[in-house]
Amino acid sequence: MKTVRILFPLIKFIDTKISPDIITVNLPFQNEARGGRLFKSDFHDPKLQQGNTFSFKSPSDILLKFNEIKDLNRKQKTPIIFKPSLNDSMLREYIKNPGNLTANNCQLYRNNLTIYYDGSLTPCDISYSFTNIRELDYKISSAYAHKKFKDFQSHMSKYNKACEGCVFSNQVLKQQNSN
Ligand code: SF4
Repeated sequence: MKTVRILFPLIKFIDTKISPDIITVNLPFQNEARGGRLFKSDFHDPKLQQGNTFSFKSPSDILLKFNEIKDLNRKQKTPIIFKPSLNDSMLREYIKNPGNLTANNCQLYRNNLTIYYDGSLTPCDISYSFTNIRELDYKISSAYAHKKFKDFQSHMSKYNKACEGCVFSNQVLKQQNSN
């Protein structure tokens, strides 16, 4: 709650002293598959499939703060948006139970690869090291033809725990994404 409380003076400061086009509030998540520290070469490794394990200690207090931020948004100059991009009722659902939502067939991994200090290559910022840039003779375009990348791709349209909590995706309730 201490962290949430400092949000208000921070937002006020940004609004009055910096005046950016927009202020974004990212809701927290905890997903080992997206921590950027744990690299696994098997996409089905349990560590990559834990999903979003984050929970708020006191969801009812956070819901009150959420309403206060919405209220602030109506009063101040700089618009405030939340991420993931969800409507208010889904944001409330997320606050109550973050693990109840999952990414809906996100395609952004097609445009984003991450290369790490040791040459490991991962799709998007998912900690799945499917190859190393050295194995590809430094030709990054070969990554998309790699068998492990293609296998990974076949899992992305299905229920996908590695992307749970990602603020860039359209998150949906798990029940809507279970087939
Ligand atoms: S949901 Fe997030 S981590 Fe997953 S592919 Fe989309 S942008 Fe990348």
